[in-house]
Amino acid sequence: MNKTLFISDLHLTESRPDISKAFFDFLDNQVNEELDALYILGDFFEVWVGDDYQTALTLKIAEKLKTITNSGIPVYFIHGNRDFLVGKKYADLSGISLLNERTVIDLYGRKALILHGDEMCTQDLEYQKFRQKSRGWWWPKLMLAMPLFYRQSVAKKARERSKASQMDKAPEVLDVTNEAVIDTFKQYKTTLMIHGHTHRPNVHIHDIDGKPAKRIVLGDWYTQGSYLIVTQESQELIFTDFK
Ligand code: MN
Repeated sequence: MNKTLFISDLHLTESRPDISKAFFDFLDNQVNEELDALYILGDFFEVWVGDDYQTALTLKIAEKLKTITNSGIPVYFIHGNRDFLVGKKYADLSGISLLNERTVIDLYGRKALILHGDEMCTQDLEYQKFRQKSRGWWWPKLMLAMPLFYRQSVAKKARERSKASQMDKAPEVLDVTNEAVIDTFKQYKTTLMIHGHTHRPNVHIHDIDGKPAKRIVLGDWYTQGSYLIVTQESQELIFTDFK
């Protein structure tokens, strides 16, 4: 049966070869003639300082993804808060199509909104302030004009700051807010939403003006593989053990 796959929050990095292996195993097991498309909904990479910085891992990933897209299966990519600097050069190299941060797709006849999800964590004011700045038009331009070593040090410091401040924040501050979710459903007039970011995989049913709307949250890949498989009939979150 035809299927579409969704993943997010793999946080791929050289220092976690177990995650890369789980991802390559996932591709080996799941990419076949039944696959209509693969959607990557952000934080695919742990960090991205610009397309001019490539490692053996990023090149291997590009090669694997390119094999899929060359076979006629599209791979779509929405930026997360860790990898929003993934640009056209890497997209060309890997064959992926970069989508807008909020995109409505047709999923077997049903309208679905897909996004990373970080913009719905509206209680985290400090993060939203940074998000607004860093996703504006000038910040990425300015950043990418800086030398690589400078960008790497900015990314490292940002990561340390974020780790420290996350420990001070209540768990609910790091989750999406109900208001933001309801606003988003209403704005896009959908009854299906798929996102990641919070690392709280789950299926939620919301009441939107008396009608049920489904929100599927993808899981992270820190200790297990995690993906959503959608067919004409069903949407199912799957978890796999690292081997
Ligand atoms: Mn994220």
